[in-house]
Amino acid sequence: MHLSRRDFSKLTAIGIAAELIPANSALGYAQPASKKVGYAIIGLGRIADLHMQGIHASPTSKITALVSGHRDKAEKYAAQYGIPTSSIYSYETMDQLRDNPTVDATYVCLPNSMHAEYTIRSAKAGKHVFCEKPMATSVSDAEAMIAACKAANVKLMMGYRCHYETTNLAAIKLIRDGAIGQVRSIQSAFGFNADPKEWRLSMPLAGGGPLMDVGIYCLNASRYLTGEEPVSFSAYTTSDPRDPRFNHPNSVEEDLVWTTKFPSGIVASCSTSYGANMQGYYRVYGSKGWLQVDEAFSYQGLRLTGEYWRDAKKEADRVVHLDQPNLEKVPHQFINEADHFSHCILTGQVPKSPGEEGLRDMQCIQQIYKSAGIKIA
Ligand code: NAD
Repeated sequence: MHLSRRDFSKLTAIGIAAELIPANSALGYAQPASKKVGYAIIGLGRIADLHMQGIHASPTSKITALVSGHRDKAEKYAAQYGIPTSSIYSYETMDQLRDNPTVDATYVCLPNSMHAEYTIRSAKAGKHVFCEKPMATSVSDAEAMIAACKAANVKLMMGYRCHYETTNLAAIKLIRDGAIGQVRSIQSAFGFNADPKEWRLSMPLAGGGPLMDVGIYCLNASRYLTGEEPVSFSAYTTSDPRDPRFNHPNSVEEDLVWTTKFPSGIVASCSTSYGANMQGYYRVYGSKGWLQVDEAFSYQGLRLTGEYWRDAKKEADRVVHLDQPNLEKVPHQFINEADHFSHCILTGQVPKSPGEEGLRDMQCIQQIYKSAGIKIA
């Protein structure tokens, strides 16, 4: 279906975007807390850099320590964020975090196969843990992470940033409010052409291919858009045998396509790849219309469009929904994530994306790989 320029002005006239999508701080923790929660960042790669920007911009959070294998990189960030060099640790010395009272929690930003070890070590050091997705490389590791955090009486939050991002939240609200009627099916994709030098292409470090890395966004979206848990999966995989990235014993899958059925009958069809650029998106079809989010899993520039009928029989009741992309210096989803976790630590609340949410995705990932005939840990 086509969205014309006239549809744009119609949207402006009814003011739907402004009504549904708050400009920022969707989670409502605008008031600075009296105490800021102190975070140690473990692994100083690309996502850590974004999390540090988010923590720094959050009124309830601050960076108080760094854990890295590269002292020079850690010193650069320490100078940037005003962290004392005495609070820089290596992977070997990070257990000494337990003696650092400025650290309340850690952010685990390491390759996938290291999430379990560093989450468990953080918990044993008495620190709450924010862990990047995918939670782990096996269901048993994910369960061990939850058990370790429970035993240490610390919180565990998964880095599912879309749960804290306003365009995704607006899409969920439209569906829950019945704007597009009964959801019938979902299509989603997310993939990119992976750099051969990346740890992501190594099975021992990544634990799996694009499904673990970016396909997980489509999987998680199909769960939060439906609000249901999958009952069955069927999956297919392909890899180009001539491509040196995918034809050695330790390589991960190149492409994966899967279909998920939900209890109400909704079917989600998803694709992921390390061999093709697939701009992240989802499209949800319902009995009264559809909605789509483009750049759905990006840090910014997300765009929600949709078309639905208040009365399916009356053309006059047609609503066209189209939001302009939101461009910010520090993407609000990273600030909201930090704010939310700090709020949970300060108030004792359970995070919106706890370890159990990561475990559910790991269980689904295990079933998808099984259906595709791919062996993981
Ligand atoms: P990256 O390669 O940029 O950073 C990884 C960091 O781990 C580096 O600082 C590296 O020095 C360190 N490291 C320690 N031991 C290592 C080893 N043996 N091999 C390789 N690196 C090692 O990776 P990234 O893109 O920041 O991804 C880190 C984690 O964050 C992954 O689990 C990934 O899935 C996740 N991630 C999440 C998002 C998101 O939007 N939430 C985006 C990207 C990555």
